[in-house]
Amino acid sequence: MTEAEATPKTGKRVLLAKPRGYCAGVDRAVQTVEEALKLYGAPIYVRKQIVHNKHVVQTLEARGAIFVEENEEVPEGATVIFSAHGVAPEVYEQARARSLRAIDATCPLVTKVHQEAKRFAAEDYDILLIGHEGHEEVIGTAGEAPAHIQLVDGPDDVDRITVRDPNKVVWLSQTTLSVDETLETVARLKTRLPLLQSPPSDDICYATSNRQHVVKEIAPDCDVVIVVGSRNSSNSVRLVEVALDAGARAGHLVDFAHEIDDAWLADARTVGLTSGASVPDELVHEVLAHLAERGFTDVDEVVTANERLTFSLPQELKRDMKAAARG
Ligand code: SF4
Repeated sequence: MTEAEATPKTGKRVLLAKPRGYCAGVDRAVQTVEEALKLYGAPIYVRKQIVHNKHVVQTLEARGAIFVEENEEVPEGATVIFSAHGVAPEVYEQARARSLRAIDATCPLVTKVHQEAKRFAAEDYDILLIGHEGHEEVIGTAGEAPAHIQLVDGPDDVDRITVRDPNKVVWLSQTTLSVDETLETVARLKTRLPLLQSPPSDDICYATSNRQHVVKEIAPDCDVVIVVGSRNSSNSVRLVEVALDAGARAGHLVDFAHEIDDAWLADARTVGLTSGASVPDELVHEVLAHLAERGFTDVDEVVTANERLTFSLPQELKRDMKAAARG
């Protein structure tokens, strides 16, 4: 008898979304901290959470990473890593002033938005940055050209925008927004600013849009969608919203399997499962095991894209790794 035949059919199933979990930028940022710990030894300071995931942060802390909010908490001359979300130029200057060895783990797709902001500011555009107020990525991008950038935090924020010249305005965005809500915000902006220009390429990154796309596919068939991710992870929070908008009857965000309330599953036959871009897959497997213990033994993986993108480690780290290898 095969293992599948041995597992009793309960009629309860899991639709497991793919793509889910780690994106190329998160993978690179986490590897950056791991390699820096190996190369320079603990402690390694990390400004802000390297990625927005509780488990990842706790695991790196246990290996010797110290997470701080600002450069001034880092001892002079020590190594500091900047998180995947990017930083404003003044943060590099502060690091130089304190003689810190700075390693920049900003995701290259966030760096791309910084470059766009710099270019349009140099051409004296008004830049409307669609994003969530207070999010680290938005603070970093806005810091590239504070005199030119205004934040637009969703469609309801559009009416308060004022620009100098309606013929010279462009919108950019945070990389981890809801694709649909951003389109709505842009449509509303265009009713006020018909000549509004779009970014040269999508700012919402491939990982964010792919994870939302597959959730939209499974949500209509789900009694409940469980998203593994942390509350401060923008793309994870968006996945719950997208699932509900797409027809899931309920949606919940959990960091760990033990946070799942049995009441959520009481009347469910189909549970959707996915995870944000900063979530290691072991946490999803723990949720699958938790669900299997409650009769959800039939797992169908729904695949809408295969992701192959990878990013190489930051140059400054690679240079030191090569030098160490040469001895
Ligand atoms: S979610 Fe997108 S922008 Fe953010 S780290 Fe991942 S690939 Fe980069």
